[in-house]
Amino acid sequence: MTKNKEIILLGSTGSIGTQTIDLAKKKNIRISALSANRNVDLTEAQAREIRPLACAMADEASARDLRARLSDTDIKVYGGEQGVCEMIATSNADCVLDAISGAAGLAPALAAIDKKKTLALANKESLVMAGDILMQRARDNGVEVRPIDSEHSAIWQCLRSGKANEIKKLIITASGGPFFGQSREQVRYKSVKDTLAHPTWNMGAGITVDSATLMNKGFEVIEAAKLFGIDGDRIDVIVHRESIIHSMVEYIDNSVIAQLSVPDMRICINYALGYPDREAGVSAELDLCALSKLTFYKPDTEAFPLLAVAFDMLRVGGAMPAVLNAANEIAVGAFLKEEINFGEISETIIKVTDELSDLANESSLEAIIDADKTARARAKEIVSAIRRK
Ligand code: NDP
Repeated sequence: MTKNKEIILLGSTGSIGTQTIDLAKKKNIRISALSANRNVDLTEAQAREIRPLACAMADEASARDLRARLSDTDIKVYGGEQGVCEMIATSNADCVLDAISGAAGLAPALAAIDKKKTLALANKESLVMAGDILMQRARDNGVEVRPIDSEHSAIWQCLRSGKANEIKKLIITASGGPFFGQSREQVRYKSVKDTLAHPTWNMGAGITVDSATLMNKGFEVIEAAKLFGIDGDRIDVIVHRESIIHSMVEYIDNSVIAQLSVPDMRICINYALGYPDREAGVSAELDLCALSKLTFYKPDTEAFPLLAVAFDMLRVGGAMPAVLNAANEIAVGAFLKEEINFGEISETIIKVTDELSDLANESSLEAIIDADKTARARAKEIVSAIRRK
């Protein structure tokens, strides 16, 4: 497949989902199926505007609601997590764009691969949890996994400059988040509002908190290792406040190739959907002369310990990256509900990963799914204990 003129869009109501719809409208890309979880109002509006053949709501009650609301149309509505996978399996579109947030993105990603559909992947959690399994299954099925995350899109573009055996290391850039330069004590009691004020990117709530804790960068290290088959000791993270260089590849001759653009996810979505061609985009041009400077710093793993934890989990492997992701989803959810403070996000996660360290010896898909459940349950207990204090 060279061009995707018809796609299945998962997570259509989210930040990446709505930007994909915007791009698709401007570029005449057909979205023949879409899915969300509970946001029935927006899904109905999208369905009435886009007229897909099918929609799915992962939440069963929301699916019943949407089915009733769309009863005057011939759009088929699927319900439940299984329904999302069934919608993928029955669609004729040959590309799935997975922009679901969290662990829920894994099963549909695997369903797309099993049906030999190209996978344009924004959902980083599926690679964090089960990257080896997902990439192996993609190779076995001859399926391309095209990254949408901006750093991985950048690396993927930079990798066009050299051969695999010429790569020295990957350099992933990080904005540093809203609390860059502050100490562990200073960030401990940061409010939800302050945490959601990302300096350069406008994203969903979960990933914005992950950017503030640097967990997001840790996930991206794991994601890059799995996507590009590079060990963690050949991946560097560098803070680059302006979010203009989206990542780099250093080659054995010490040449560093970088990808630059304004921070706009539609560039990455456009590249993934147009690959291997570079198609005209819809985003603003980069005005280099308007930038006074580009700055670079080492990440502060004392104030933001989760980046180092992610490197550790990548190294020990097995189901530990899935444990890390599950504990993070629970801790971030509790923080967004103001049940724990900012500092307690990392404390909860570190406790869960320490306690469940034996799961490094487990690596089957079943064991990973079990580890996800066990880690969620333990993280919930820790959060409840914090609330009772
Ligand atoms: P949002 O929170 O904005 O949107 C999430 C989407 O997933 C919504 O459509 C939501 O539906 C749906 N969803 C949530 N839970 C479930 C579930 N259990 N089953 C099925 N669908 C579900 O997230 P983002 O768009 O910010 O991020 C999506 C993914 O892309 C994440 O993995 C994120 O890390 C990654 N990413 C995002 C970037 C960004 O700029 N936003 C950049 C790079 C990567 P509903 O609205 O009904 O809840």
